[in-house]
Amino acid sequence: MLDNGRLKAAHDDKFKEIFNCLRCASCLNVCPVYTLVGGHVYGHIYAGGIGAILTAFLHSMGDFEKINEMCIGCRKCTEVCPGKINIPGLIEELRARTVKENGLPFAAKVVFENVLSNRKVFHTLLRLASVGQKPFQSGNVIRHLPLFLAGMTKDRSLPAVADKPLRDRISKITKKIDKPTKRVAFFAGCNTDFVFPETGESVFKVLQDLKMEVVFPEDQSCCGKPVLGMGDRETAKNIAKRNIKAFEDANVDVIISACPTCAETLHQTYSEIFADDPAMKARVEKFAHKVREFSSFVAEQYAKAGRLNKTIGGTKVTYHDSCHMKRGLGIYEEPRKLLEAAKGYEFTEMKDCDKCCGMAGAFGIKYTELSMPMLKQKITNIKDSGAEVIAVGCPACMMQIQGGLDKQAPNIKIKHVAQILAENIKD
Ligand code: SF4
Ligand code: SF4
Repeated sequence: MLDNGRLKAAHDDKFKEIFNCLRCASCLNVCPVYTLVGGHVYGHIYAGGIGAILTAFLHSMGDFEKINEMCIGCRKCTEVCPGKINIPGLIEELRARTVKENGLPFAAKVVFENVLSNRKVFHTLLRLASVGQKPFQSGNVIRHLPLFLAGMTKDRSLPAVADKPLRDRISKITKKIDKPTKRVAFFAGCNTDFVFPETGESVFKVLQDLKMEVVFPEDQSCCGKPVLGMGDRETAKNIAKRNIKAFEDANVDVIISACPTCAETLHQTYSEIFADDPAMKARVEKFAHKVREFSSFVAEQYAKAGRLNKTIGGTKVTYHDSCHMKRGLGIYEEPRKLLEAAKGYEFTEMKDCDKCCGMAGAFGIKYTELSMPMLKQKITNIKDSGAEVIAVGCPACMMQIQGGLDKQAPNIKIKHVAQILAENIKD
């Protein structure tokens, strides 16, 4: 009765760190969700991300399940927690344990096991969506949805699926490089492949300009982060095995991703999910070792080539740090150095540049009423910076911020860092 679940947590190697909590509430002050919804939403005594974890042990897993989606994994709390508690990591662990014990909800199970883990089915559906969306599409966005879906497009346009995915453009954008310095494979991820193929084209242009041979392994698919976020590690392992095989067959020196979420999943999470699998361990480590995030890799190459000199004057550009880029991969200086050196641009910072834009995977769609205030604040900060262009390094943030700008500040353009670099390279 007095213990109330505390001993169970204390004897759990992964969860004993929750006793480092001093109840200082620093994590609550910076949490973008808690600061919007307040404490009552969490249902029991303990609020915020740390509260969700305590609720799982001190109340029940059922109570945890009701509130666990109030953590969007932005990791702001991990920057300030004096107890060094990995709150979002522990929440993901609890989700995985729930799925292991009770399975996935039926709809998610059908989608994950039959669509996301089957590349051909998944990509066929995306191609069909690019046709089915036509009645609602204006250019590269969907501005209005009918009936009960209308709320989703009230203050934000949604991204349209591209007419032609990146994978159908590869033969046109691939250049033959004489004596290449490296053989590089591009991991596109779903968003760059099917929503922003122009970003992928820019990545090819930048890497080929660095005299690298760039290849696109056809069998690559989703990195698996959406299923991992829901706690489905078994489906994620199947997806990971296929991606690893596709890139092993490509026999490359480096694997580049222009999406920090994919880069983190390929580089770090694959190793974690196969940690207890001796048959996969060596293969995963070899694969993960080759994975690099685009902007940090290119900044390194440009620095070696003396191409990182600051420029003065030009279009004002500011930068939004994606949560996974800054706090997941620890990359925030490199994209700024690239932007400061980009001809025709003048870099300026904006307020709260590293605060979540409110997309956070399915959260941005499922919890529109929470996602929209976060996006509105981001758009206000971009406008207040005086920038004419907002640069991003993450295609998921690009979807969200592009949609907000389209409705709230259409004069401001959004570009991936790769696009800005590619503009300065002659064809
Ligand atoms: S910041 Fe860390 S120590 Fe402070 S309340 Fe949150 S989890 Fe506890
Ligand atoms: S990771 Fe972000 S959303 Fe989750 S508890 Fe921490 S600050 Fe809140």
